Amino acid sequence: MANKIRELPKGYTDTPVLPGSPWRVHDIARPAPPVVRPPSSSTQERPGTPPSDAVVLFDGSGFDAWVGRDGEAPKWRLVDGGAMEVEPRTGDIHTRASFGSCQLHVEWSAPTQIRADSQGRGNSGVFLLGLYEIQVLDGYQNPTYADGTTAAIYGQYPPLVNACVPPGQWHVYDIVFEAPVYRDGELASPAYMTVFHNALLMHHRQELQGPTLHRRLASYADPHGPRGPLTLQDHGDRVRFRNIWIRPLHRFQAE
Ligand code: MG
Repeated sequence: MANKIRELPKGYTDTPVLPGSPWRVHDIARPAPPVVRPPSSSTQERPGTPPSDAVVLFDGSGFDAWVGRDGEAPKWRLVDGGAMEVEPRTGDIHTRASFGSCQLHVEWSAPTQIRADSQGRGNSGVFLLGLYEIQVLDGYQNPTYADGTTAAIYGQYPPLVNACVPPGQWHVYDIVFEAPVYRDGELASPAYMTVFHNALLMHHRQELQGPTLHRRLASYADPHGPRGPLTLQDHGDRVRFRNIWIRPLHRFQAE
């Protein structure tokens, strides 16, 4: 027989209205958050599962969500462990769909065969809107310029710490990206990024200076749309990716 539970108030109708809000404190009519099944954690051996409200961009089964150079099918390879691998010099790959502000989860690993150091070791990148790069690099005992190391906002901001695991092991990026806003061709709000690498905070709502550039200053001089593809970079190294999912953010505050 089911236990009889004590039923308590589900909210109130006689409390003060919250400043800047239509809702009262503990308002009984305020909508409950949608129920979402959370992701399961990955292990080194196997990728976890995405949350139930994510757009799955790669789960190991194929490149359906992606296009390669000139809009053709990606020439990267599917490999063991539910992963894909960069096929060097076949070009970057891009999602078919466009995204704006979002929460993004990406896992990657660097090749164990080391042929070069600095920017020549396990280099790839994750580009939001195809423009704003979080650097992917094998930064494990691999000195390079700080704003180009693992989890750097490339060319602008080093990560707070180096949380790299050895080559061949899986890294996890969790990114919150706020797309810039242009109005009448003028920048109204810059881009912001929050980045966790292997569960450690690397960038805390960092304001970006503009789309990523190499050896030059970034700027917002060239207006672009509010959405763009997610891009993974072919920098000539056999970097692997797995368990990629994204949650578009339509707003940053719950109602
Ligand atoms: Mg790169």
